[in-house]
Amino acid sequence: MRIDLHTHSAASDGTDSPAELMVLAGDAGLDVVALTDHDTSAGWEIAAAARPQSLTVVRGAEFSTHVLVDGRRRSVHLLGYLFDPADPAIVAEQARLVGERLQRGLRIVEHMVSAGVPITAEQVLDFAAGAPVGRPHIGRALVQAGLVNTVTEAFDTYLAGGGPYYVPKDDTELTVAVEMITAAGGASVVAHPWGRSQRPALDAHRFAELKDRGLSGIEVDHPDHGAAQRDELRALATRLGLLATGSSDYHGTNKVLRLGQETTDPAVFDTLVAVTSGVPPLGPWRSGSR
Ligand code: AMP
Ligand code: FE
Ligand code: FE
Ligand code: ZN
Repeated sequence: MRIDLHTHSAASDGTDSPAELMVLAGDAGLDVVALTDHDTSAGWEIAAAARPQSLTVVRGAEFSTHVLVDGRRRSVHLLGYLFDPADPAIVAEQARLVGERLQRGLRIVEHMVSAGVPITAEQVLDFAAGAPVGRPHIGRALVQAGLVNTVTEAFDTYLAGGGPYYVPKDDTELTVAVEMITAAGGASVVAHPWGRSQRPALDAHRFAELKDRGLSGIEVDHPDHGAAQRDELRALATRLGLLATGSSDYHGTNKVLRLGQETTDPAVFDTLVAVTSGVPPLGPWRSGSR
């Protein structure tokens, strides 16, 4: 069983259409793949229809959230799995976040244009093609303008948090998001909690609090985590009774990583599915089928 619980399609900031992504997941030898686009469930139907017979698809989404640390907002990504997609609170919050993404993306572009960076809002919206706007779409405009060679390089020089053009967005409060996903019959897992950031927003105490609110797990094996971080997070998850998941966070050509580069243990996946009641995984997977 090869299980990858975190991927993005062009329905958010990946580069493969949801249908292409399903075919690629099958080709990569995955048995289970979760589609976890940012702040949207728009890719699900198409992905489900394009699913190879041998592949099980887990409906999910990555929610943009924040926590207050020492009075300052810090960004945390939260994966929601198998929640009811028609849940009114989730539908409303995703719609609000999509609006936030558009306004914030346009403001970042305005800052760049004022500083003489030769990109346009139209170019960025073309790359987004109707998906919730993310910084990788701006990154692709910067690549097209010849200012950088890759989207990753665009993050290093133009797009990073705290960079000259950065604009935050009004993300959901983390605890509210955990409770919202739980109420919709889903399971929630904190995505790459210790990736990229110099100073992690979440410590053991915060994870324990989140577990009390309904959090199911921590994404431990993620390309942004080093070996020491993984060891520490895995021990933390065990101590707190949280699941430790693994996933690639595949984004097509917007990031340099492979589908199935990191995977989740089948027993962990079984336990994750068992706490959900929103929608079932779609495909041949059955609990205990290792
Ligand atoms: P946003 O959702 O607009 O705040 O942008 C964050 C997204 O940008 C993340 O979900 C990643 O997909 C992507 N991202 C963040 N850092 C990098 C990086 N260094 N290289 C490529 N993509 C990145
Ligand atoms: Fe992303
Ligand atoms: Fe993320
Ligand atoms: Zn992601």
